[in-house]
Amino acid sequence: MDFIRYAESAASLLNADVADVDDLVRFLSGRQWLHDQVTEKDVAHVRRFVADLRPVFVASGEDDVAGVVTGLNELLDRHPVTPMISDHDLGNLHLHVANRAASVSELLVSEALLGLATLVCDLGPSRLGVCAATKCTNVYVDTSPNQSRRYCSERCSSRANVAAYRARQKIQAVPADSAGSADSTGSADSTGSGVEANDAAERKAL
Ligand SMILES: [Zn+2]
Ligand SMILES: [Zn+2]
Repeated sequence: MDFIRYAESAASLLNADVADVDDLVRFLSGRQWLHDQVTEKDVAHVRRFVADLRPVFVASGEDDVAGVVTGLNELLDRHPVTPMISDHDLGNLHLHVANRAASVSELLVSEALLGLATLVCDLGPSRLGVCAATKCTNVYVDTSPNQSRRYCSERCSSRANVAAYRARQKIQAVPADSAGSADSTGSADSTGSGVEANDAAERKAL
């Protein structure tokens, strides 16, 4: 299983705002074989799940390690995962996150939880977040090497950049030497200090 893809798919599920069967079918656009199985019950189940999952993205964005771990563990407890070895391709046995009896919503929940739990264990607990753009509530998974992601999309990122540029132009008359240099030091060091911060957080947790 590709846990990063599943974690990113979990973020997309939160951002999809699934309101009815059609929405859920649209979300599964790359997986036609699931479309006939989607029911109202799946919609209700997915809606409850994304509401319960959002606080995990918020906690991660705030570097609240305990919030991320407890949040995911509670969800794993509430939604038991039933993986199975799939033999649909005998030459390539591989793990499916849910067995054949699982409903569409159970499958999506299992993929989301296994993806996110593995991501947190492998890449650290601060890889999730809520878009920093004003009025955007979308969530994201940060797989950038220096953990620098702050926006859900290119669109939000460039809109925020334009807004920041305009704000800078407004205060250009004011000397802002100190702010400028602090900014550049921060970004040059971000990889190293990010890793150290993670280590420190982990030591504290242990
Ligand atoms: Zn397969
Ligand atoms: Zn956004």
